[in-house]
Amino acid sequence: MYLYTHPDCENHKLAQHPERPERLRAVINRLVETGMTQDMKVKLAEELSDDVLIHVHPSRYVETINRSEPTISTVRLDPDTYMSPGSLRAAKLAAGACVAAVNDILREKTDRAFCAIRPPGHHAEVAAAMGFCIFNNIALAAETALAHPDINRVAIVDFDVHHCNGTVDIFKDRPEVLVCSSFQENYYPYRYLDFSNEHIVNSPLPEGTDGKSFRAAIERDWLPALDSHQPDFLLISAGFDAHEQDPLAGLCLHEADYSWITAQLLCIATNHSQGRIISTLEGGYDLSALASSVEAHVSALMQ
Ligand SMILES: [Zn+2]
Repeated sequence: MYLYTHPDCENHKLAQHPERPERLRAVINRLVETGMTQDMKVKLAEELSDDVLIHVHPSRYVETINRSEPTISTVRLDPDTYMSPGSLRAAKLAAGACVAAVNDILREKTDRAFCAIRPPGHHAEVAAAMGFCIFNNIALAAETALAHPDINRVAIVDFDVHHCNGTVDIFKDRPEVLVCSSFQENYYPYRYLDFSNEHIVNSPLPEGTDGKSFRAAIERDWLPALDSHQPDFLLISAGFDAHEQDPLAGLCLHEADYSWITAQLLCIATNHSQGRIISTLEGGYDLSALASSVEAHVSALMQ
């Protein structure tokens, strides 16, 4: 199992913003303190080049982002999404980690990887930064996998508390990409919440939903869709802001629920994807809950 990360992902920062460098530090510290990194190959991410970014985002958008980084202070790309000095490199490292993870798995160096990176990516649409996200990291990973001759179908599953509008925007007309998203209903990002088709599976969850109802929704909506899609590669947008302690939303999941869903997904990857699975960090804003949820997720991923 590989772990991709880079300390420069901490240089994307804005005071008082919930998507802050301490998130990544909490995750890495936990993986080191528990000894888990001793059983993983730790890889330093490299920046994704513009000629790969344009496999998902139009070159005009990439050029706009390249020009938007301030030399001092911060700029807003949307009301929630900022760039500070260091953000451009952080965003390209985050995307680069996910693409490298896919390439290393396809070269059969490993079959599983976790990307501990930021900024997150799943709200970034084809040509719009949004919801703390600049480039859509998981979409870039999916396109990289699909460019490989052995990979005909992929699945992206997203258990962040927020719907993955960006990932749906990118793949809504691509039946070879199954997208499964669980999220708090009638909540941010208020886009694509009601959009579904044969390969876009939405699982809206009422505020206050606990682990039991979450698991029932996954068993009802995701697992049959994943079995029927038979993905050659499984990609996870792993956000942990559906945890009960998270300050940004109102679902009530716990660490055991993240262990459970990871075990289910591992089973799908074993049955259909030759075990090929990557997971990348999306949301999660309570540092303690984030660290313990990542620990539960990665530990289950290593089984
Ligand atoms: Zn989120």
